[in-house]
Amino acid sequence: MEFKLNEYHHNISDKDLLNDVARVAKALNKANLTKVEYTQNGQYGVETICRRFGSWLKVLKLCKLESNQFQLAAASSSHLYTSISNLFLLDDIIRVSKILGKESFSSREYNDLAKYSSSTVFKRFKSWNDALDKAGLQPYKQISEKRIETVSLLEEIERMWITLGRQPTVSDIKNGYSKYALNTFSRRFGGWRNALEAFVVWINDEQNDIQAMESKTDQSVEDDPLIPKKDLVPQDTPLSIIKHKTKRDINLRLRFLVMKRDNFKCCVCGASPAKDSEVELHVDHIIPWSKGGETVIGNLQTLCSKCNLGKSDLIE
Ligand SMILES: [Zn+2]
Repeated sequence: MEFKLNEYHHNISDKDLLNDVARVAKALNKANLTKVEYTQNGQYGVETICRRFGSWLKVLKLCKLESNQFQLAAASSSHLYTSISNLFLLDDIIRVSKILGKESFSSREYNDLAKYSSSTVFKRFKSWNDALDKAGLQPYKQISEKRIETVSLLEEIERMWITLGRQPTVSDIKNGYSKYALNTFSRRFGGWRNALEAFVVWINDEQNDIQAMESKTDQSVEDDPLIPKKDLVPQDTPLSIIKHKTKRDINLRLRFLVMKRDNFKCCVCGASPAKDSEVELHVDHIIPWSKGGETVIGNLQTLCSKCNLGKSDLIE
């Protein structure tokens, strides 16, 4: 159940990306190239390339390729759309600022009251603080204390990972998703990538501990001739003599592994905090602890608070 970080493509140079676009155009013998044509024949993700250079139109220009009328029309209408909605976004940030009664707040606080998602704000502005600045508000200062425990930093990575439903990026931190500043992570771990590596080691370490503990306990119980075999099956065990091999508490690391396995979604209704910031995920014993269920990954599932409440009602 070991997990790994996503591959980084940052080391691909601008030149490599442009060369590949030019190569595809040449192979297809075309003076113009559409995104679809590149996607079908290119080596890299078309969105990655657009993000790197700003737009597909710019990519075509840099490759000395022609742009067709549809590409030009799309570019000019998206420019118009962008300039209008920036004003709406800033208005909405000011509206939320009035509700909160403060001049400075995090993008998470904004999300809870916003008309638009903060990810839209990030796409339009350089950073969350840039948006606050353009709205005439004060920059949001993330906690940057020297005496933050390393485990608190790792727990914050876990929290971001769960609420985003994916590996958190430098942009997420710059965009105010983290309680702690990017510098705090960088100083402690020597860069964001190293912080993620440390997080992976932390999570996988505990998993090793759990597996070691499980196999050790299983063996010692099964090998004990004094314990009848039927007592190993929880369902057959009378409530009065349940003996658990594991603790009831689900620690943070086990919780993360269960949520990661379940793709940070509720196993019953599919709700996720990444899609709806109201959703809170819990990890729940499938066979309840009170009925002999163990705290092992196979007996745990991710539920949202609504489905979790529904389940305990059924059991009571
Ligand atoms: Zn649910």
